[in-house]
Amino acid sequence: MAAKLLLMLAICRWIVTVGLMLDPTELLLLGVEERLSVDPLDLESASLDFGGLHRAEPWGVLHPASAQDVARLVKAAYDSSHGFTVSARGHGHSINGQAMTTNGVVIQMSSGSGERRRLGIGRPVAPRVYEKFMYVDVWGGELWIDVLRSTLEYGLAPKSWTDYLYLSVGGTLSNAGISGQAFNHGPQISNVYELDVVTGKGELLTCSEEDNSDLFHAVLGGLGQFGIITRARIALEPAPQMVRWIRVLYSNFSTFTHDQEYLISLHGQSDSQKFDYVEGFAIVDDGLINNWRSSFFSPRNPVKISSIDAKGNGGVLYCLEVTKNYGDLDADTIDEEVDALLTKLNFIPNTVFTTDLPYVDFLDRVHKAELTLRSKGLWDVPHPWLNLFVPKSRIADFDRGVFKGILGSKNKTSGPILIYPMNKNKWDEKTSAVTPEEDVFYLVALLRSALDNGDETQTLDYLSDQNRRILRFCGDAGINVKQYLPHYTTQQQWRDHFGHKWAQFYQRKLEFDPRHILATGQRIFKPSCNPTSASWY
Ligand code: FAD
Repeated sequence: MAAKLLLMLAICRWIVTVGLMLDPTELLLLGVEERLSVDPLDLESASLDFGGLHRAEPWGVLHPASAQDVARLVKAAYDSSHGFTVSARGHGHSINGQAMTTNGVVIQMSSGSGERRRLGIGRPVAPRVYEKFMYVDVWGGELWIDVLRSTLEYGLAPKSWTDYLYLSVGGTLSNAGISGQAFNHGPQISNVYELDVVTGKGELLTCSEEDNSDLFHAVLGGLGQFGIITRARIALEPAPQMVRWIRVLYSNFSTFTHDQEYLISLHGQSDSQKFDYVEGFAIVDDGLINNWRSSFFSPRNPVKISSIDAKGNGGVLYCLEVTKNYGDLDADTIDEEVDALLTKLNFIPNTVFTTDLPYVDFLDRVHKAELTLRSKGLWDVPHPWLNLFVPKSRIADFDRGVFKGILGSKNKTSGPILIYPMNKNKWDEKTSAVTPEEDVFYLVALLRSALDNGDETQTLDYLSDQNRRILRFCGDAGINVKQYLPHYTTQQQWRDHFGHKWAQFYQRKLEFDPRHILATGQRIFKPSCNPTSASWY
């Protein structure tokens, strides 16, 4: 009763302050009022994201207890005479307000929030593993770390990952979900068999390659535009026990990329003849080297970075990072298999650094870094991240213009700069995800934190300006990059981003979310119900 009263008061406030043209009973009759929160803490948490660059407060936050709750709310928004927007929020780890809305309700899909726990609401459905069929059914808001924990009970694990596991299934499937396994297994969106989706009309539909296939493909990589994923069926494999994690250094960029491309070309080989994970990063300053040394290298194999002369190469070093999984059965052959692969590479002699660790610890490695950064107050800071897919044919130009040019060697970089290639044939063209038109393309991820420490080159303004310069450089040089986790502010930019896929993307929007209710924080389609027209959200 108290919750109902609070909600009624909140709706009256919305009517007065934002001119909401809604009959309050429309929301009260949905049967979700107990889970529709207007608690200031909830509103505050839904107004923010990991990027820390944007802010947008919703009218309310729904903590769904089932897919039906999600469907009821979206249907109410769709049917309502003036409408309101609905944004699914996974774990809020977007950079640019993609999961926010000001003119409606945020559906908090992930159960990670404190408020949800305080209310005693768990996740709507626990993961269900089908051992025989090697897949798991999970709630759309499930975090990947919890998917892993559940499947490990059966000795199984998903095949394709992100570097960080505290992200929701629905959030990564709305983008692609990539990591060093993608060259081999494809992105996470290539490893899904079936979805339950609530469309922008409030229908709850099951879709797959066979059934409702257009919705299935639309939603995968669809930036939340076509529906809210309430269940995903994810492919599994036997979980490895251990990982050999290896890093080697390069001072020559073309040798580095040649070796990376060679390693990903082995994707069709048997497991023993390829690595399981291929990534890499650029080291543009000493600060990062030191960081990296202390976090990875054991005292048994100290790094003598200072002895490596990178000056002739614009002061930039490159680190190739690979892993090989193993267990009791192949523990005898792991050394031999790794050596056979490393022999084919041309890294700087004596820069092989290895460590062996349990599979789970490897997958969960970034969380360790998170805890360290949190303890130093360096996690909740602005993150002006920029992620680009760069075609293989232009990666050397990108290196010259960006790593050795714009980033230069004088800057301190407060975060890793990842670079690794992927095979396009592991991506399904029918999905909404956009990649460059070449068989091989690179992810370049500038994952920098803005710091207020007196160093101008680490400020938000400086880093944001650098991002703009990088995009301008690519445009001027004719390097057809595609943004991953894209962020644009005009529809023309979105059309350019999608290129030949735009017509289909637009058509699918008309079909599945004709009133432009969903995920307005992506700023692709202006909502038809927009009382405060100044805001895109
Ligand atoms: P949110 O930020 O909550 O939402 C993102 C978008 O998806 C929004 O538009 C939202 O409306 C929509 N959405 C959320 N849930 C659903 C749903 N159930 N159905 C439909 N739409 C939904 N990405 C990689 O690919 N690889 C990485 O290695 C990687 N590492 C990362 C490490 C860190 C520390 C961080 C912060 C991000 C990383 N990312 C990585 C990016 C990440 O995958 C995306 O930001 C992703 O969207 C975050 O998931 P989330 O659950 O927080 O989504």
